[in-house]
Amino acid sequence: MSASPLTDLSRLCVHTITTKPWPIETAIRNFADSGVKGITVWRDALGSRNTKETGKLIHESGLEVVSLCRGGFFPSTDKAKRKQAIDDNRKAIAEAAELGAPMVVLVCGADPGQSLIDSRQQIADGIAEVLPFAVAAKVKLAIEPLHPMYADTRSAINTLAQANDMAEAINSRWVGVAVDVYHLWWDDQLEREIARCGRNGHLFAFHICDWKVPTTDLLLDRGLMGEGCIPINKIRGWVEQTGFRGFNEVEIFSNDWWAKDQKEFLDEIIKAYKEKS
Ligand code: ZN
Repeated sequence: MSASPLTDLSRLCVHTITTKPWPIETAIRNFADSGVKGITVWRDALGSRNTKETGKLIHESGLEVVSLCRGGFFPSTDKAKRKQAIDDNRKAIAEAAELGAPMVVLVCGADPGQSLIDSRQQIADGIAEVLPFAVAAKVKLAIEPLHPMYADTRSAINTLAQANDMAEAINSRWVGVAVDVYHLWWDDQLEREIARCGRNGHLFAFHICDWKVPTTDLLLDRGLMGEGCIPINKIRGWVEQTGFRGFNEVEIFSNDWWAKDQKEFLDEIIKAYKEKS
């Protein structure tokens, strides 16, 4: 079933990384002026700024903070590095609370020096260890499965089924999953797994962009919606069928788009949001 057209921007969120050349203050102003309603803040956009002040600025602009990206990167063959990751995730949770973000997105990590099974166990252990902090701070944790091309160093969680398995095993209303069409569009179990996380109350976030054909860079060549081959509308239909009414978050890392005028890019995003999502 396809989703109804997005005729207004009430559920449009843009990630700060999407308009990376803009300092966060510029992004906040332009997003709000263009009618965007949500913002997901990447930690690199915060730099040395006061997190609380930045949160206040977002709040005053009328934008809603949708999430903080990103925590995770739990696995390592080195015990000291695993401990560092725990500390960094606690820090991310504290930052999210200061910013007023209800959720931290987890890019879970992987270490090519060990098996994916071992990395997955360390991810589960890492989430279990930081969970009490997340609950105390009232910040949710969203496990984002990444495309298998990133299974070497970025994530040992590569399908929504794996993310769902983990969220169900942890069994906390503070831990769920983030569905990103870029990472999951190819999966023949996607419809079923979206229904599954929706049923369990684990569907926390929905990220959109497109897969360009051919893609020229495995990290920094994401397309604007409509530029590639992902059936975004169909996947959004599956997501909405679960009752999900959260934001549609535009998350595009693209050297091509970053080289262009970001205000024009934002206008293109809004157009593609309405016509191609
Ligand atoms: Zn994403």
